Amino acid sequence: MVTRGGNGAGMTKILVVEDERDLNDLITRQLRQEGHDVVQAFDGQTALSIALGEAFDLIVLDWMLPRLDGLTVARQIRERSVVPILMLTARGEETDVVLGLEVGADDYLTKPFRMRELMARIRALLRRVSIGGPAEEARPASDAPADAIVVGDGLLAISESMRTVTLRTTELDLTPKEFELIALFARNPGRAFSRDYLLERIWGDDTYVTDRTVDTHVQRLRKKLGDESELIRTVWGIGYKFQLPRG
Ligand code: CA
Repeated sequence: MVTRGGNGAGMTKILVVEDERDLNDLITRQLRQEGHDVVQAFDGQTALSIALGEAFDLIVLDWMLPRLDGLTVARQIRERSVVPILMLTARGEETDVVLGLEVGADDYLTKPFRMRELMARIRALLRRVSIGGPAEEARPASDAPADAIVVGDGLLAISESMRTVTLRTTELDLTPKEFELIALFARNPGRAFSRDYLLERIWGDDTYVTDRTVDTHVQRLRKKLGDESELIRTVWGIGYKFQLPRG
């Protein structure tokens, strides 16, 4: 079951997946008022086929859904797309949150929530994509390499090809793991990463890892960032995220 409305070119297109019709309608109405183009889906299976069939700027995805649960939907979308996913969950359990983030959700909100809070999160996610996301949106810093990820108005420039990280005008001396950490963070500003995810993603099958491996590397990385150490924030009970300074 799908309904859609407003199809103006250049609008932000959002998929709202929620089986409680009243709530779905409420979210949809609010998003349309803010000028977004919204497509609604009321079960996981339909949501997945819509999400894989056309491009969206953001997906609001409920966890408990008929036909296919939100977690599975998120995981399958993530295999093909980097579209920001905001998960809605009735559960507030820490492990659930971690699970959601590990399958690739970018943010989550526990029900019941205030509509204003949801809209704020959505705005933040959309903004984040335009800051740290697609290359055409990134502004090159003065003499940064062409492939550089540039964040915070030139505060940090990361070149994957040169394996260099430049903080303002100073090139940082990083180990390969520290480089991979900050590159992953900077590509996904605001997204929280669990320690387990980071371990698997960056250390993989490396045998010499312990529970403290991620923490010690983050500590060293923060030290090297000096005054900008707050770029890497601790997300209590989960892990870390990259947070750009305001302004
Ligand atoms: Ca539900």
